[in-house]
Amino acid sequence: MLAQRTALFKSSGTAAASAAAKAVAASGKEIIDLTAGEIWSHTAPSVREGAVAAINCNINRYTDTLGLIELRHALARKISAETAQPWSADEIAVTTGAKQALFNAAMVIVNPGDEVLIPAPYWTTFPAQIVVAGGTPVFIETRHTNFVPRLADLTAAVTRKTKAILINTPNNPTGAVYDRDTLANMAQLAIDHELWIIFDECYGAFAHAPHVHHPIVTLAPRARDRTLIVNSFSKSLALTGWRIGYLAGPKAVISAVRALQSHTTSNPNVIAQHALLHHLETGDPAFQLQLQRQVSDARALGLSILTALSSVPQPAAQGGFYFYLDLGGLQRSAKANGRELNADDVAGTLLMDAGVATVSGTAFGDPAGIRLSYGIDLHLLDQGLRRLTATLDTWN
Ligand code: PLP
Repeated sequence: MLAQRTALFKSSGTAAASAAAKAVAASGKEIIDLTAGEIWSHTAPSVREGAVAAINCNINRYTDTLGLIELRHALARKISAETAQPWSADEIAVTTGAKQALFNAAMVIVNPGDEVLIPAPYWTTFPAQIVVAGGTPVFIETRHTNFVPRLADLTAAVTRKTKAILINTPNNPTGAVYDRDTLANMAQLAIDHELWIIFDECYGAFAHAPHVHHPIVTLAPRARDRTLIVNSFSKSLALTGWRIGYLAGPKAVISAVRALQSHTTSNPNVIAQHALLHHLETGDPAFQLQLQRQVSDARALGLSILTALSSVPQPAAQGGFYFYLDLGGLQRSAKANGRELNADDVAGTLLMDAGVATVSGTAFGDPAGIRLSYGIDLHLLDQGLRRLTATLDTWN
C-alpha cells in the first residue's frame, strides 16, 4: 500500500537510540543519556529577546520562501567573515535546520543513478537523503586512517557517475577535524572530476585546539562555484529545537532551492528567523564563547575518565561534542574467546547493565564503534562515563 520509496529509508539510527533510552527510562530504570546530538544549555539572551520582540510585534505571516532578506544579508556578512570572501544574500537560502539544507542540496543536484562519495563512518542522514533523491551513496572507509579519508581511496572511488562528494568536518560521529591538506586535496579532486562539494560545517564552532576548522572555499577559492555550504545554529548556539539553518552556494542552486522549498515547507519559522536576525545584528559573541568553553570542559573531563579504559583507545575528539570509541580491540579479544561482539551488543549491554545510553556505530555504517555525546550536564557526564568504563572493562 505504501509507496516503494518508503523501503529506501528507515527512521534515523540516532533517533532510534534515543527512543530506546527513553523507553528503558520509562520502565523505571535510571538512565544517563549520552545519545543526544545537542548541547545541554539555556537559550542565548539575544535569541530570546529577538523572539519575544517578534511575538510582541504580532509577527505571524509568511516571509519570502528563502527567508527574510535582512536575515539573508546578515548571513552573507557572517559567511563573508568566516570564509574571507564576499558573499551576497542571493547566494543564501534560510532553511529549517541544516537537515533541510542538505535535503534541498541533494534534491537539486542529484539525478537518479548519480553517485555521491561519503566518508564512513557517516552521519546517518547523509546516505538516506541521497537515496531519497535517487542517488547512490558510495562509502569511503576511514576507520584505518584516523577517520580522515585518503585521497587515493577517494580517487579510486570516482566513476563516470560520481556527482558529488559530501564533506562533514568537524565530523559526526567520529570527531575528526580535516586538516588543510585533506580539504585542499578533496577540493582539487572535485575540480578535476567536476563534482559538487556538499560541505557540512554544522560543528565548525567546536574545533578543539590545536585543531582548527577550515571552510573549504577559503582553502580552495577555485572550488567555490561547485561548493554548497551547509550550516545551522542547532549546535553552535544550542538551538536544535528552533529549526533554523542555511544553505550557501551558487545563485542557480539557490534559485532551484527556492522553487523546491516553495512547494515543501515555504519559509522557515518566522519567529526563529527574527530571533536569529536579532542575534546576528547585536553581534554579541559571549554566549557562543561560553558554550564553547562548556563543551571544551566536558571534553577534558570525559577524556580524563576514558583514559582509564584498558582495551579501548582514547578517542581523538578533535571537534564537535562526541567521543567515538573504537571497539576493534574488544571485538578481537571477544573473538579469541569464541564470542562475536558487535557495537549493537555493546550499546545494548551499556544501556541495560550500566544504565548508559549510547549510539551504536551501526547507525553510522560502522559495527565497531559507539558514539557518546558530551553535550550533557558535567555531573551526569562524569557519572555516565564512570559507569561506562567500569562495564566496558569487564569485557577484557
Ligand atoms: N549535519 C550533521 C553532521 C549533524 O550532525 C546534524 C544533526 O545532528 C545536522 C546536520 C542537522 O542539523 P539541524 O538540527 O540543524 O537540522
